[in-house]
Amino acid sequence: MKDCNIQLLTSNKYSAMKRYDYLLVGAGLYNAVFAYMAREQGKRCLVIDRRPHLGGNVYCECIEGIHVHKYGPHIFHTNNKAVWDFVNRIVPFNRFTLQTVANYKGHLYNLPFNMNTFYRMWGVGTPVEAMRMIKSQCGSIDGFPTNLEEQAISLVGYDIYNTLIKEYTEKQWGRACHELPAFIIRRLPVRYTYDNNYFNDLYQGVPEGGYNRLINGLLQGVECLTSCDYFEKKPYWDSIADKIVYSGAIDEYFGYVHGHLEYRSLRFVHNIHQTGNVQGCAIMNYTDNATPYTRTVEHKHFDINNRPVQESPVTVVTTEYPVQWIKGQEPYYPINDDRNNRLYETYRAMAVREQRVLFGGRLAEYKYYDMTDVVEQSMKRFENEI
Ligand code: UDP
Repeated sequence: MKDCNIQLLTSNKYSAMKRYDYLLVGAGLYNAVFAYMAREQGKRCLVIDRRPHLGGNVYCECIEGIHVHKYGPHIFHTNNKAVWDFVNRIVPFNRFTLQTVANYKGHLYNLPFNMNTFYRMWGVGTPVEAMRMIKSQCGSIDGFPTNLEEQAISLVGYDIYNTLIKEYTEKQWGRACHELPAFIIRRLPVRYTYDNNYFNDLYQGVPEGGYNRLINGLLQGVECLTSCDYFEKKPYWDSIADKIVYSGAIDEYFGYVHGHLEYRSLRFVHNIHQTGNVQGCAIMNYTDNATPYTRTVEHKHFDINNRPVQESPVTVVTTEYPVQWIKGQEPYYPINDDRNNRLYETYRAMAVREQRVLFGGRLAEYKYYDMTDVVEQSMKRFENEI
């Protein structure tokens, strides 16, 4: 891997006698943070991953000098200064601020839901007028919203729900909005100001030079094996370390004995365009259901500090298609409805009894974590270890 000075062990160099304090299964952000902290305390760690590269879903591929987020756009945002300082000690982050544009049948709206959106939708120019309009549209929802549909309508009214939320959400998740948990839509701010920042957090950016620099910095000096499937030789891997940190899917760990948890998967199509700027923003969401993909990502816009790349005549755009998850595919999003949450609790009870194994990260905890949550949880978990 470019600019990677991690020692990648090959199988024949590997010594079966070697013992580790921690075997980390999965080379994503959770385990990279854990390994960094463990190594600082003099612990011996081995990281293995079944993919051919490190970094899990934050992995970037450099195409035409552009850091392409191969598994979907990742923008680091946090309110936690300790987390922000920690990641910035590894690699400086730029001041990228996400301002997503929604495209509904060729009509463009600003996201998240703010005065620009309300003006575009209804021609209302003041917060009071916007509030009045929304209130008039959510009259039928009373009490505490119990699903995504009720939550969305009560926050922004029917017009925005029908134009920017319903069809996007149903293709993204593959199920009806009234079958999805309300918290998913609360990820997006609703504000009565002309502010298109997608996040409310104090700190936001992407690593200068891409996410591989973050992962490589965290894993500097840590032994790592890629293209290496833990489950193919689980007893062997378990025998070489005192503890295992497992960041894969929890149901897979237990051989799906109680059945499958449901996930949403994605398919990415990356295209190089011989032109400087295709869409004028990093992320454009397609919120109608006739368009089979959810969003297009033009990666060069993340790299705001790198003017030559911005001005280069080439650009890379990724089209992101949501797909039904089936065994063997990459699981991206946990579907935290009641059935899945109950099943997860069954697996979690089993996990608690695995004395030598720590379970952490989006897949092992079956939670819709952002990167900041992953870093914070991993730091805390290691601190509990010492
Ligand atoms: N969402 C929507 N319309 C949009 C963008 C998001 O309805 O244009 C909803 C959708 O249900 C989505 C959720 O908000 O799953 C969370 O969006 P976010 O951008 O946080 O998703 P992520 O970046 O994690 O895929």
